[in-house]
Amino acid sequence: MKLLLKMAVPFILMLFINISYAQLRVRAPYQIPDIPGYQTLICDFHIHTVFSDGTVWPSVRAEEAWREGLDAIAITDHIEYLPHKDDIRTNHNRSGYIAKGYGQDIYLTVIRGSEITRDMPPGHLNAIFIQDANKLDVETWQEAIAVADSQEAFIFWNHPGWRGQQKDGVARWYPEHTELLDKGMLHGIEVVNNKEYYPEAHQWCLDKNLTMLSNSDIHPPIQMHYDSPNGDTRPVTLVFAKSKDEAAIKEALFNQRTAVLWRNMLVGKEEFLKPIFNQSVQIENPSITFGMEDNKNVQITNRSDVDFELFRADTLTDITIPEKITLYSGKTVLFNVKKTKKLLRGKKVLNLPYKVQNLLVTPIKPLEINLELEIEQK
Ligand SMILES: [Zn+2]
Ligand SMILES: [Zn+2]
Repeated sequence: MKLLLKMAVPFILMLFINISYAQLRVRAPYQIPDIPGYQTLICDFHIHTVFSDGTVWPSVRAEEAWREGLDAIAITDHIEYLPHKDDIRTNHNRSGYIAKGYGQDIYLTVIRGSEITRDMPPGHLNAIFIQDANKLDVETWQEAIAVADSQEAFIFWNHPGWRGQQKDGVARWYPEHTELLDKGMLHGIEVVNNKEYYPEAHQWCLDKNLTMLSNSDIHPPIQMHYDSPNGDTRPVTLVFAKSKDEAAIKEALFNQRTAVLWRNMLVGKEEFLKPIFNQSVQIENPSITFGMEDNKNVQITNRSDVDFELFRADTLTDITIPEKITLYSGKTVLFNVKKTKKLLRGKKVLNLPYKVQNLLVTPIKPLEINLELEIEQK
């Protein structure tokens, strides 16, 4: 019996080893291309934990973000609103430290931040890249923001049209925001928060040279709040940075190199959206030759996560092109172009003019692009 037991031990051990190896953790990377000169990082700079009014432990926030394919997050628990304070000892720095330590093990950049939670105006502001969150726990919002600024924080205005503070859901700019802007203590605004897009905030970012942000403001476990498989995805900020580390992200944020990705919508300056589109899309047969026939097919592949909804911006003399083309994410579409009677013999390059309806460069202006196609009439 003893001998049998002895022989069995290695097998039992192997069983346990195999079980531990089988616990794979799986990440689903985003398919949003880098742009010339910069890496495109997927970030969420507004996240709560049990250390304020969230229901999730900080390390789980890091794991959730890694699994969803994010590169960086900021933990931003409220300074002034701590409904769990009787259960969890209050030290404003702890949640950031816990998530940051966990993030290091899984190659996720975790930035320490806080949400300065005041009445409107000025409302709620996040300060990220802070040194000591406890020092933000002061009497007035002016003091709190000044302390954050003295710690060289990046400070942004959260959910400016949130119905908790603006009953009609319309974001309003107050003299208090001008005061912060003039002092150099307001660096960005959430254009998207949770499940809301604020067109007013989008326009302010353009007019006042502020950084556009798009964040989840997540409180419960991420999968309890967003139905990602059905298109209800976490909003993320795209950061165009020289590298993935904290210093590079901070440099990019202070220099307004961001865009907003929410559901199937991209919001940002043309200088960022155009290269994202161009790097995502490839015309598989960029030159077509007409013989006697009137029609030819064109194939376009879209390698990105975004379905691009193209609407014709103009008509062409030589060929008729579709009024609407959807370039589906991760797929190749094929469509027909028809030559007109005006097409003359020879070769020429045409720019097919389209507007990408779900890529916004202003609240009312979609990105304009050209698909380059060489045509030849034999
Ligand atoms: Zn808030
Ligand atoms: Zn919040």
